[in-house]
Amino acid sequence: MIKEYKKKIEECYPIRVELHAHTAPASPCSTFSAEILAQTLAREGIHAVALTNHFGPYHMNLFPSKEAFLEQYLSDYLALKEAAKKYDLTVIFGIELRFSENKNDYLVLGVEESDLSRIYDAVEGGLAHFRKVFANEDILILQAHPDRDGMVHADAELLDGAEIFNLYPGYNPHTAISAKWAKEEQLPIIVGGSDLHHPGGEGACLLRTRERPENAETLIEVLRSGDYALQIGGSIVLP
Ligand SMILES: [Zn+2]
Ligand SMILES: [Zn+2]
Repeated sequence: MIKEYKKKIEECYPIRVELHAHTAPASPCSTFSAEILAQTLAREGIHAVALTNHFGPYHMNLFPSKEAFLEQYLSDYLALKEAAKKYDLTVIFGIELRFSENKNDYLVLGVEESDLSRIYDAVEGGLAHFRKVFANEDILILQAHPDRDGMVHADAELLDGAEIFNLYPGYNPHTAISAKWAKEEQLPIIVGGSDLHHPGGEGACLLRTRERPENAETLIEVLRSGDYALQIGGSIVLP
């Protein structure tokens, strides 16, 4: 019985989407070049990926100027887009954003390459300020791995949801605490991601959708609709 349901859900949501992935050099903690990431995801049968390179004070300070940081950040995205063409992989622009106010990370979707300078300037102001800066744009802010050590739960009013399942093997995500918090706060969107940094982690946690999200706008639509499933390893989870 369960097997039949599982098969039905898999058929219903055939598209595999990685919501959390990094490349170097924009994320120096990653060992993926654009080419290897595109190749690896395609081999895993993944149809779309949100590239969510780190964007915050630590990474900004690795560069001599704002311009140099933004140039590298954009260049990683463009390189992945280019590499992905060979593999029929859709690349969606995302960021993993950290503000000066604390060590929290946020997956942000719906911002564009042309917004990078504005985002850079908003890092100092914190999450509440960032919400105001982008109040007129349809962006999605999901707190990433909210219970990693050193992080605190953000004000739920400022969030669209949270990445409750984070499958990066390097940290303990304390998933049980995140899951409870998300329930208590009734966070509208629950997602998961592989937080992919190195070959071998691909496909650990995927979003399963009915149709391929061609851009951030359609991905946001799917997430807001709740019409998706999550895949953790070979298991299907309904959010
Ligand atoms: Zn990283
Ligand atoms: Zn990450």
